[in-house]
Amino acid sequence: MRIDIISIFPGMFDPVLNESMIRRAQEKGLLKVAVHDLRDYSTDKHSKVDDRPFGGGPGMVMMADPIFRAVEAVKRRARASAKGKNTKVILLCPQGRTFTQEKAKQLSRYRHLILICGHYEGVDERVRRRLADEEISIGDYVLTGGELPAMVLVDAVSRLLPGVLGDKNSLNFESFEGNLLEYAHYTRPADYRGMKVPAVLMSGDHGKIGQWRREQALARTKERRPDLLKRRRNDG
Ligand code: SAM
Repeated sequence: MRIDIISIFPGMFDPVLNESMIRRAQEKGLLKVAVHDLRDYSTDKHSKVDDRPFGGGPGMVMMADPIFRAVEAVKRRARASAKGKNTKVILLCPQGRTFTQEKAKQLSRYRHLILICGHYEGVDERVRRRLADEEISIGDYVLTGGELPAMVLVDAVSRLLPGVLGDKNSLNFESFEGNLLEYAHYTRPADYRGMKVPAVLMSGDHGKIGQWRREQALARTKERRPDLLKRRRNDG
């Protein structure tokens, strides 16, 4: 998969892209992430990318033209390779649909994602209307820019790409899979400050361990996220 990110703060991505799983995925050739400085696509001699809002009011708005030019340039380059056939343009936006594990799965099936990071009061409405295929929010709160949301999306999507996680079974038994939260985990020591690991986990009986974990997952979901259980029942 290829992910192109358009941002006015490209340096923010370096630590995230160059560490841990995302770095390894890129080293293995499973993922390529490129960050583009939006100012490179400004036609203004001062590389300006924002302007005052029509109608007045506080703050600045990111202009449509540099964003259109950046996305068009990225698409042109991608069309030269096969990846350009399966591209989705996403605007990170607090007014978009809330990001979920299901959405991460859907996006992981694309060969190419383009992420647009807004700033200030947000982007000119024409970017939403004409350029973005989808708007995604990472939650009901307002951040200063789309960079952190873009990083969240890159992380959640890239770990779903085949070959990225060491053990692909990790994906089958994790929270939100089948609308359940995952069971509790323990590691050594078996007794930590008087808190003991449930005996069943040390029994060696994998049938019983599996049953305990299923019960745990159901109990936790009921306690913390009854909405997921309702969805599980509706999905049959
Ligand atoms: N004025 C906008 C509003 O009230 O809807 C908020 C703009 S916000 C300060 C600036 C940029 O940060 C947005 O254009 C978006 O790219 C990003 N952003 C902020 N919160 C976000 C969220 N919860 N999810 C995704 N992107 C977000």
